Amino acid sequence: MKPHPLPKTVAPLPDELLSGWLFRLAAANYCDDAELLAHIEIDTAHGTALDFNIDAAAAEKIANVARVDPNVVRSLTFPAMSPREALLTAQMPFQHCLQCSREGLSFRHWRRVWAFDCQVCGSRLVQTLGKTGDEQISEKLIYRARRGAGMLEYAARSRGPKQLRRAMRAVTFAMSLKGCHGKPLFALQSHRPEVSLFCLAAIAAARSHPLAKAAIVSSAIDDFARFALLRAFEKEHRLLAAVDHIAQRRAKSKGPMTAESRN
Ligand SMILES: [Zn+2]
Repeated sequence: MKPHPLPKTVAPLPDELLSGWLFRLAAANYCDDAELLAHIEIDTAHGTALDFNIDAAAAEKIANVARVDPNVVRSLTFPAMSPREALLTAQMPFQHCLQCSREGLSFRHWRRVWAFDCQVCGSRLVQTLGKTGDEQISEKLIYRARRGAGMLEYAARSRGPKQLRRAMRAVTFAMSLKGCHGKPLFALQSHRPEVSLFCLAAIAAARSHPLAKAAIVSSAIDDFARFALLRAFEKEHRLLAAVDHIAQRRAKSKGPMTAESRN
């Protein structure tokens, strides 16, 4: 027997995510999404499991109870993506817009690791599991991180792999400076805004200054910075050699320069 259509339906919004729409559909019918999915006889407790992959039968079942076309249901999931785009699209919600979330909304663009501001209301997206956004983060860091995010989007959508490789190298370098381990993509989704914003800002910094040079100019090359460089450039022997060369030259010239400045 087919499940009965729900008493109330809700119209999906542009870019709305299937799980978000299911949440609103459930709320309009005075239940939660787990109860709604059980009613439709879909074997999953959370709508997020359907965001990337929904089969025709499940789309049909949802469309039937919500009284919409199955194509509408399918259009709320992620479309086919390039491998690079897929890599930079989070499987689980990691950031959201406080204002839109309060209204039970959830959008697809929030899942992109390069998304920085809510495209619907313009608020800055904040970590889903982080604090409520009242922590002290400098405007300068936010400004730089927003620029880095834009560059990451460009890298994700550009044809060649070069831009993205450069961006990820900057993130790896930033992670080393922050003492983070793991994959660069997870650092960008970190629930600690000081980490994710710093990593995004590093992408912008690496663009305006060659990364190795920036590292040397900004700090004397000590063991910690050297380790960070090694991690970021481990596969780029020529770059590492160049870094060493600059560092040696700098060490040599440091003595006389310091002496001069005292005069
Ligand atoms: Zn918003």
